[in-house]
Amino acid sequence: MYRITYLISAIIIIMAFSACNKRPKQNTKQPNLVYIFPDQMRKQAMNFWDTPQFKGGIRTKADPVKTPQLDSFAKEAVVLTNAVSNCPLCSPHRGSLFSGLYPGKSGVALNCNAERPISSLREDAICISDVLAEENYNLAYFGKWHLDFPTPNDPVNPGHYVDPRRPAWDTYSPKEKRHGFDYWYSYGTWDVHKDPHYYDTDGNRYDPKEWSPKHEANQVISYLKNEKGQRDNNKPFAIFVSMNPPHNPYNSIDDCLEEDYEHYKNTPLNELLHRDNANPNMAKAQSAPFYFANVTGVDREFGRIVQQLKDMGEYENTIVVFSSDHGETMCSQNIKDPKNNIFTEAFDVPFIIKWPELQEGFTDNLLLGTPDIMPTLLGLMGYEDKIPEEVQGTNYAGVLQKKEAYRRPKSALYIRNVNGEKNDEGLVQSYFPVARGIKTHQYTLELVIDENKQLKKTRLYNDDADPYQMNDLAVDKNDPIVKELLQEMAYWLKKSDDPWYNERILSDWISYDDK
Ligand code: CA
Repeated sequence: MYRITYLISAIIIIMAFSACNKRPKQNTKQPNLVYIFPDQMRKQAMNFWDTPQFKGGIRTKADPVKTPQLDSFAKEAVVLTNAVSNCPLCSPHRGSLFSGLYPGKSGVALNCNAERPISSLREDAICISDVLAEENYNLAYFGKWHLDFPTPNDPVNPGHYVDPRRPAWDTYSPKEKRHGFDYWYSYGTWDVHKDPHYYDTDGNRYDPKEWSPKHEANQVISYLKNEKGQRDNNKPFAIFVSMNPPHNPYNSIDDCLEEDYEHYKNTPLNELLHRDNANPNMAKAQSAPFYFANVTGVDREFGRIVQQLKDMGEYENTIVVFSSDHGETMCSQNIKDPKNNIFTEAFDVPFIIKWPELQEGFTDNLLLGTPDIMPTLLGLMGYEDKIPEEVQGTNYAGVLQKKEAYRRPKSALYIRNVNGEKNDEGLVQSYFPVARGIKTHQYTLELVIDENKQLKKTRLYNDDADPYQMNDLAVDKNDPIVKELLQEMAYWLKKSDDPWYNERILSDWISYDDK
């Protein structure tokens, strides 16, 4: 009897709690999705971090950049302060974004080019777009795809690569490789920002001679307006827009719009690069005003797409996400390479998500990884039970919805691969897992191996005490802090079925088989 009373009281308490825990507006319609991700956009390159509402959201200074559209968007969205790109490079990120798999499983362990037949998005991977196509969505892809191994399949010039470079990087992705996207206005990879090209759904080529983010926003707006019958008005839509800028090159006015460059052209480089870890004397520093001009231009084009959703009355029923495939070091640590490293400026990405069902204007330090994005979006959209079994990422919809006691990750895995063996024709036959690392809310640790898979180098930063990562700490594997970081690494390497786990790489450091 006591137990029954207890049970009934518990139910009453839960019901009362649910009633008090006022949920934002409920939606019965299938929500639309608009996911916009420019390439190489630093998390720090958003002005709102320096406004009172977001102050302290990131540990470092924000860049002195103009992003008025993102600033107002962030105020009504959920802003993640610690989202990462686990393998901060174009193709591996994209493979994980769409499939919910780590790069070793998505098929895309390396950047895709014609030298790397082993790196191409698996045709049998069930991507978010495949799932939504099954749920009767219209699916559209705009901009850079960069997920397929290039073959000589130019639809305009059969038997040739679309890219004259050797090895070819750019390619045409035929219908059978589009993973449910029924509308296509895309290319593989191409970095001439004012001379982009695109292949449409049927493989027709367009060379619009227009700054690519502006051109893509025009195409998206036309699609939303359904000007040419691009979609079925009775279906919900899911749109991915991959703008190439602020990707390099960012060397001159040839790479951005004059109106955006105006904001930065008279600012001294040491003011544009005002971070403790930036070196304004590097040759690359000359690119800073052009990089920020590209950011400001992307901000405007993002705002135009959002405005169109508002104008057509769909904003309230659309999940809008702004993110990037990786960051940009932009003269920090004296390194030229913008990406593919564990430094926070490359590893971290913007992640801002807006939907009326999510509480407005809060930041969260969730360590969201790339493979988590697909299941999290499906979870939010009401398709939790459609998340493919193979998915390695986690559905964190509950965190975004502020559900009580939702489990959070303590860390995120870092991955860097390079070419493995090549055959006689110079084609890459395998990838080599050269570095793995871990990031927690306080520390960043990286272990790099040599060709014999022995420890070659370590990096360890206390990000709390040293947010600019200027003090590389000595690593003692018996230090309790390092031990805990290595335990976290072991957890993720096993969970992601990584080569380090399968080959027990550095097992004198990492206890793979501890419970
Ligand atoms: Ca990229």
